[in-house]
Amino acid sequence: MIHDIIAKLKKCNPLNDTELIMKAYEFAYKAHEGQYRDSGEEYITHPLEVASILADLCLDSITISAGILHDVIEDTDYSYDDIKNLFGEEIAMLIDGVTKLGKLEYKTKEEQQAESLRKMFIAMAKDIRVILIKLADRLHNMRTLRHKPEKKQREKASETMEIYAPIAHRLGISRIKWEMEDLALRYLEPTGYYDLVDKVAKKRREREDEINHVIELLKEKIKEVGIEAHIEGRPKSFYSIYRKMYFQNKTFDQIYDLTAVRIIVDTVKDCYGVLGIVHTLWKPIPGRFKDYIAMPKPNMYQSLHTTLFGYDGQPFEVQIRTWDMHRISEFGIAAHWKYKEGRSSQEHFDEKLKWLRQMLEWQNEIRDTREFLETLKVDLFMDEVYVFTPKGDVVDLPVDSTPIDFAYKIHSQIGNKCVGAKINGRIVTLDYKLNNGDIVEIITSANSNGPSRDWLKIVRSSQAKNKIKQWFKKEKREENIQKGKESIEKEIRRQGFIASQLLKQEWLEIAYKKYSLHSIDDLFASVGYGGLTTNQIVSKLKEEYRKSQKIDEKTIEEELENKTQKAEHKKKQSTTGIKVKGIDNVMIRFSKCCNPVPGDEIIGYITKGRGVSVHRKDCTNVSDLFTEPERLIDVEWNTRTKVSYNADVELRAHDRKGLLAEITSIVDDSKININSFHSRTSKDRMAIINFVLEITDIEQLNKLIRNFRKIEGVIDVFRSKQ
Ligand code: MN
Repeated sequence: MIHDIIAKLKKCNPLNDTELIMKAYEFAYKAHEGQYRDSGEEYITHPLEVASILADLCLDSITISAGILHDVIEDTDYSYDDIKNLFGEEIAMLIDGVTKLGKLEYKTKEEQQAESLRKMFIAMAKDIRVILIKLADRLHNMRTLRHKPEKKQREKASETMEIYAPIAHRLGISRIKWEMEDLALRYLEPTGYYDLVDKVAKKRREREDEINHVIELLKEKIKEVGIEAHIEGRPKSFYSIYRKMYFQNKTFDQIYDLTAVRIIVDTVKDCYGVLGIVHTLWKPIPGRFKDYIAMPKPNMYQSLHTTLFGYDGQPFEVQIRTWDMHRISEFGIAAHWKYKEGRSSQEHFDEKLKWLRQMLEWQNEIRDTREFLETLKVDLFMDEVYVFTPKGDVVDLPVDSTPIDFAYKIHSQIGNKCVGAKINGRIVTLDYKLNNGDIVEIITSANSNGPSRDWLKIVRSSQAKNKIKQWFKKEKREENIQKGKESIEKEIRRQGFIASQLLKQEWLEIAYKKYSLHSIDDLFASVGYGGLTTNQIVSKLKEEYRKSQKIDEKTIEEELENKTQKAEHKKKQSTTGIKVKGIDNVMIRFSKCCNPVPGDEIIGYITKGRGVSVHRKDCTNVSDLFTEPERLIDVEWNTRTKVSYNADVELRAHDRKGLLAEITSIVDDSKININSFHSRTSKDRMAIINFVLEITDIEQLNKLIRNFRKIEGVIDVFRSKQ
């Protein structure tokens, strides 16, 4: 097998370094020794098949070697550095680009997959050969997918359909694209696929004679005018037929171009010469002629396409191209690879990879992995439509684009001032969907009020979408300035100032310069859309205010601190659940002697320097206090606040087995917390139990006391500390 690969390479370019390839082969062979594929074959068969696919694309020996070594970093003990030391940085980088990221770093498989793709795209922008190796790798894995479990088959098939086949298409490697699509379809829609294979085989046999007849006639007529041509019947891929049926809602019988006739000639002049002959032999179907020679597809594809009415009324398609175009059509970017050295073709090459650069631009902005994957799929899948400017320049846009997309593609000012459009000279509405070949003329007006928000719903290109959004961001500036100013004023008031005290021109100037803005309006606008917070601005203004008042920061801080202390004090006080008549801001304490609880009749006593202490009216200490009646003050329970209080309860009972258990179960049922508990037995076998209970009101306590009294043997229960 390795000799086959070397033979292919020699054929492509006799100067290829076969020694390097042998070295890579020997290394990979040893590295993978003892590993096997799911098919039971030795693992080395896989990298060799990959290298063979790359050799078919006529790639250089570096790429082929990297293909042979592509699984070494991922699947064996060798590291990036090992490969770099042995084979150089170029090969090591190519392999690293196709190596999946470690599983451990990611939460989900999806995240790991997306980040591996992101890594691959970045590597691919540095060296496009990374993706060629990855495509070859995926193609061989798809060819051998039958050895995998069903779940894996579906996963790999849909990833291939959604990501790798579209990439192959973008790079113009139709050979790989078609094979991938057909293989993926087989696993994604097995019934539909095998049904289609049957039908196609049958219909092709039916039409074989006719196609052969067409080919014979063409050979004869083309030879008559002295043009050298290769003519063949090319079967269309299953997936392209399936797609037509599915997306254009056609039955199999409505698909006529199962086989296209392909004519390959030496020069562009011959292409048009042959086209003339074809059109004199059969009547072309209007609107079906496409000149991709004058107007190549963005993936470099060039050819003439025309569809003709056959003898039996059945249409058939003819493709005409040169050998160069043919190679590019099959190999795409890979065909350009060998011309990479020349500078002019390098530019040409870069132009073809514009989409890749665009993709890299947006991938930088998308941090969310799920969003990255979705945008990637959409972007890769986007089919294109080609339209003309009135001057005849070609503009390519996503399928279903509108004149608005076109306008923004030409220039954002044309988009912003767009008020209407003409297609092929006739006025259309702005949601008109562009068709291939349309000549688009945008009607602008200097008086236009700018884009409409509805446009966001009808445009297809991300370019138009972004530019419209940008316009709204700018246009809403007035609104943002107003909003920003208002919220700053509000914050100033909240902090106890008057707007005019702080909103001084010179201080605002200091503030906007601090944030590297260009004007006071910028400052307001920035607060308006949330770029800066009101607090950032107001603190700066306050700082300037203080300087002007010659008040040092400390005094203000102190003042603030006082305020907060007061506020906290107030808060604390209200949580005691006591209102003191006629007096605010009083410190309240509950007397330890009687532990009043809500519902108890209470009275306050103004202490010396320790606020008001609250006693039960029946507290024995209160009678002593009456000697100083001027220090007694009416207080009442604030029933709206739920606060818990401590209550002291004493229980006396004849000691017996199970008494404690019964008492605790009653406390449990009452949902009252016991803060402390103390029990002792007197000499005469009397149990005396003291509780400190956490209660919220007197009713709760009284109920508990009643329940205690029901216990067998209980003599007395009362609130202690009277
Ligand atoms: Mn592999």
